[in-house]
Amino acid sequence: MGWLSADVQVTHRLGSAQTTAQVDPGAFTAALMRAAEAHGATLRRGQVTGLLRGAQAARLDGVMVDDTPVSGDAVVIALGPWSILATQWLTLPAVFGLKGHSLVFETGAQVPAQALFLDLQEADGTALTPELFPRADGTTYVCAISSEAPLPLDPADVAPDAGAIERLEAICGRLSPVLGQAPIRARQACYRPVTRDGLPLIGRVPGIANAYVATGHSIWGILNAPATGEAMADLITTGAAVAVDLRPFDPARLPPFDPARLRLGER
Ligand SMILES: Cc1cc2nc3c(=O)[nH]c(=O)nc-3n(C[C@H](O)[C@H](O)[C@H](O)COP(=O)(O)OP(=O)(O)OC[C@H]3O[C@@H](n4cnc5c(N)ncnc54)[C@H](O)[C@@H]3O)c2cc1C
Repeated sequence: MGWLSADVQVTHRLGSAQTTAQVDPGAFTAALMRAAEAHGATLRRGQVTGLLRGAQAARLDGVMVDDTPVSGDAVVIALGPWSILATQWLTLPAVFGLKGHSLVFETGAQVPAQALFLDLQEADGTALTPELFPRADGTTYVCAISSEAPLPLDPADVAPDAGAIERLEAICGRLSPVLGQAPIRARQACYRPVTRDGLPLIGRVPGIANAYVATGHSIWGILNAPATGEAMADLITTGAAVAVDLRPFDPARLPPFDPARLRLGER
C-alpha cells in the first residue's frame, strides 16, 4: 500500500481480485441503455411535468414530457430523490435526498486496484468514512462528507456545499501523497434517494392499475439496480416478479407523503 500516507493503517482485507469487482456507474448506465436500444427501446430526454390521466380514474394513459403528451401502457416513477415530486400526482411515500461529495483524480498507473473503506477523524473530532475506488480508466474516485442540504428542484442545480470540496481535497492529501499531487478531473456532489425505513420502494403505486415506482435504493442503487429492473420488467409484463420477492419493498408499507408539505422554490 505504498501509495498511502504512513499514518493510514489497513486493518482488514475485505476481498481479493477473485472475489470482488467494480462497476463504473456512468459506463454501466450507458451500456445498459445501449443494450436496451439494441432491443428496440428509445431514450427520450426531457422533463416529466405531469401524468396523463386515463378515461378510467384508476389508470394512466402516459406522461407529459416537457408539456407534450407521451402515451404509454405503464408508468414507472424512477426519479431518484426527485420522486418525492411525484407525490403531487400519485399517492406515494416520501423519498428524501441525502447528499454526498466526491472527487475524481487522474492517478494513471500510480494507484493499484485496491479499493479502500476508511475511518477518519478530522481535527475538530468529526468522524468520516471516506471510500476510495481506483478505476480501470486511470482515475481514482473518492467520496465522503454527507450533508442534509435541501434537494434543488432542478437536478442540473446540484452543486457541492460551500467548503466541502476543499475539505475533501485536504482529507485526500492527508490520506495519500499521490492524491495530494494528482490533477483533479471532477469536483462534484450527488443525492442518494432514501426512504423513511431505509428500504427501497419497488412495486405498484397503490390505487392505480398501471403505475409503478422503483426508487429509494440509498447507497446501493448501482448494485441493486439490475435486480430491481428485472423485477419491474416481470411485474409489468407478467403481473408478478419471479426472481425477487418484492413484498418488503411494497410502497404501501409506508404512509403517503402529503404534497402540501413540499417547499417548492424555497432556498
Ligand atoms: C457519494 C455516493 C456514493 C455512492 N456509492 C455507491 C456504491 O458504492 N454502490 C451503489 O450501489 N450505490 C452507490 N451510491 C448510490 C447510487 O448512486 C444511487 O442509489 C443511485 O444513483 C440511485 O439511482 P436512481 O436512478 O434511483 O436515482 P438518480 O441516479 O438520482 O436518477 C434520477 C434521475 O431522474 C432525473 N429526473 C428527476 N426529475 C425528473 C423529471 N421530472 N423528469 C425527468 N427526469 C427527472 C434526474 O435528472 C436523474 O437523472 C452512491 C451515491 C453517492 C451519492
